Amino acid sequence: MNINLIENNISLADKNWFKTGGSARYFAQPRTQQEFQQALQFTHEHNVAIFVLGSGANILISDEGFDGLVIRPALNELSYTIIDENNAFVTAGAGVTMDQLIEYCLSHQLGGLEEFSGIPGTVGGSVYINLHYFQFLLSQFLVTATVIDSANNSVHTVDNAWFNFGYDYSTLHAETYYLIDATFKVKRLFPLDVAFARGRRTEIMRHRFNRYPTSHTCGSFFRNFLPAEIVHEKTGVKLPYVAYYLDKIGVKGSLRIGDAAVSHQHANMIVNKGSATSTQIIELAQKMQDLVHNEFNLLPQPECRLIGFKEYPLKK
Ligand SMILES: Cc1cc2nc3c(=O)[nH]c(=O)nc-3n(C[C@H](O)[C@H](O)[C@H](O)COP(=O)(O)OP(=O)(O)OC[C@H]3O[C@@H](n4cnc5c(N)ncnc54)[C@H](O)[C@@H]3O)c2cc1C
Repeated sequence: MNINLIENNISLADKNWFKTGGSARYFAQPRTQQEFQQALQFTHEHNVAIFVLGSGANILISDEGFDGLVIRPALNELSYTIIDENNAFVTAGAGVTMDQLIEYCLSHQLGGLEEFSGIPGTVGGSVYINLHYFQFLLSQFLVTATVIDSANNSVHTVDNAWFNFGYDYSTLHAETYYLIDATFKVKRLFPLDVAFARGRRTEIMRHRFNRYPTSHTCGSFFRNFLPAEIVHEKTGVKLPYVAYYLDKIGVKGSLRIGDAAVSHQHANMIVNKGSATSTQIIELAQKMQDLVHNEFNLLPQPECRLIGFKEYPLKK
């Protein structure tokens, strides 16, 4: 047992992209599968709640913090295996960032994942949400993974089907199992293809940096509407994109509560302009919900995970 594994009262504001929120009562950064098991064992012995944190790019932590153990896996291993002339498997630990994974792939002449260039997050958080960018979903690449069952600390190898992937969805949402590592099928590239993939990566990042804020945000705050939800839309447009409705209302760059503001670049992105609190971000999100509901009879729901709130702070 690593006796230094569990720390007390650790600030979370510097560990998430909004840069807001309180502290974790307990905090652990397991570097191995065994340490992850030990951290889970601690939660059983002390009967405390678990939250597994990635890079904090898609969460909002309450100003009261999290009254339990926050586990931030420092599982940073990368490896690859050649399958045949055209394909390879690349395996990444849950704590590896997508950026590190893409760079690792390209430096070993492996391609495909560069479509996710410029999206912040770890492999753990990205499998959790089934990372998406235009027509690409991370589930299109994932072959197998190692997960840990928090009920009894057992470790399992699972396949793609086990994750039951959907839009913004995987089995990990049940928060029973947590990701240890994931294996993706990628293409073997010739040197010229690597140059092309790097060019594509640069182009995607340039496009993203022009379109989206790059810090103090969780990306899209609300998820897009599901087909069943847009049945009730008032105007008959029936588009799933929540940003479309927010844009129509004119919140982009104008709606603000304290330092919590709707980005001037994207109507569905909230940014912390300096010293916003999580409470202010929630108040702004409630206001956005009300505006869309009054105008279109649709109630946006968050894509961003809300952590440490005693009750669900938005409208259902
Ligand atoms: C500027 C910006 C742009 C973005 N653009 C996009 C985009 O284009 N497409 C897109 O899909 N997303 C986008 N996002 C959202 C974000 O990048 C993704 O959701 C990312 O996968 C979050 O990863 P993370 O490691 O930061 O997860 P966190 O935010 O830390 O956690 C998110 C969820 O994942 C869970 N999780 C984390 N690690 C594990 C693990 N090991 N096992 C089980 N569960 C785990 C957490 O418990 C939490 O519920 C954007 C965010 C930002 C800030």
